[in-house]
Amino acid sequence: MTDSHTPPDLRQSLGLRPVINVSGTMTSLGASIVVPEAVAAMSAILPQFVEINDLHKMASPVIARLTGGEAGFVTASCSAGISLAVAATMTGNDLAAIERLPDTAGLKDEVIIQTGHVVSYGAPVDQGIRLSGARAVLIGQATSCYPYHLEGAINERTAAAVFVVSHHTVQYGLIALKKFAEVCHARGVPVIVDAASEYDLKIFLAQGADIALYSSHKFLGGPTGGIVAGRKELVRSAFLQNMGIGRGMKLGKESILGTIAALEAWEKRDHAGIREKETGYLNLWKQTLTGKPGVTAEIEPDPTNNPLDRLRVSVNAQESHITAWDLADALARGAHPVIVRDHEAEHGYFYMDPCNLHPGEEKIVARRLHEELGKATASNEIISTPFEERYARRIAGLMRWPD
Ligand SMILES: *Cc1c(COP(=O)(O)O)cnc(C)c1O
Repeated sequence: MTDSHTPPDLRQSLGLRPVINVSGTMTSLGASIVVPEAVAAMSAILPQFVEINDLHKMASPVIARLTGGEAGFVTASCSAGISLAVAATMTGNDLAAIERLPDTAGLKDEVIIQTGHVVSYGAPVDQGIRLSGARAVLIGQATSCYPYHLEGAINERTAAAVFVVSHHTVQYGLIALKKFAEVCHARGVPVIVDAASEYDLKIFLAQGADIALYSSHKFLGGPTGGIVAGRKELVRSAFLQNMGIGRGMKLGKESILGTIAALEAWEKRDHAGIREKETGYLNLWKQTLTGKPGVTAEIEPDPTNNPLDRLRVSVNAQESHITAWDLADALARGAHPVIVRDHEAEHGYFYMDPCNLHPGEEKIVARRLHEELGKATASNEIISTPFEERYARRIAGLMRWPD
């Protein structure tokens, strides 16, 4: 079987493994397939000089149109957006204060966040807050937070409140955004929503966020970047942080224009057609897994209501002769490494995400599933490595970097 990548695969000549991403939009795998419109815009602008703030100005109405916000700009990442938006709530347009950060002497510097929202997207959410010099004030407990926790935490030092939308957060027992914003606004506290990985570009501002943050490089298929959208005054104060802590988070001309192009392409994208294609992949894999001993495959909706389904593959090691995590690791080896979504593998299942495939790769994925499960079933013993060793191996690998 041959891959159907059209241009010859650059990865081969670089000595990089030709991974197939059924994991999701992961920084660790190169985020997403950048849309051709963004690729073209980026290569066209790279050799040219531009007045960068004019280019930034161009992004604002496009972001405003797509998000329903008053203004917007692009920075290095959604993570950078958290630090810049928080900084904006502390400094406003005070250029001297902007240059003094992360020294917050004389400024409001407390930022409230529900404990169940303090997750890691590869780095801790609260660190994104603290990088600006602010202090993260955690309210409630991991699985319970009520409006009284929020009301009780707001005081004269409160600069902002951060709300995180993600499958990583606790999905019950917490304050929903509308109520969160209502309580904050009654006390004059701006609300920053981290919606890095969400398809709906309008709903969070519509539900009361003052700033909504998105990643350019996730579903939008843009270059690596972060989108800051919302109330013009606050967006401006966040933009001015480019003369301070934002300097190290800057984007070049190519990524600013690339993000604009990705946003414009998003408006015209055939979302229904893409969904249909993805459903086809899921059905193919489900069919491949039907009847395999010890394996159950079910199509599940996205936990944060993105218009996207994934295949949940549950593995009974006694019957299939392999654990879910050993199957994930086996799929990730070989000439066609398939990387599955394995955040919860210790519970005996993983997910397969259909939204980052090149045409034809779905068949390779199906074949790899068939091969690895066949090998396991034929094995006389159960392939089961201790789960903790998996993490230990990953950390050990990092500690050896770059060797
Ligand atoms: C991916 C993600 C981030 C980080 O976004 P980057 O743009 O990659 O920095 C932040 N928050 C959430 C909820 C995410 O899913």
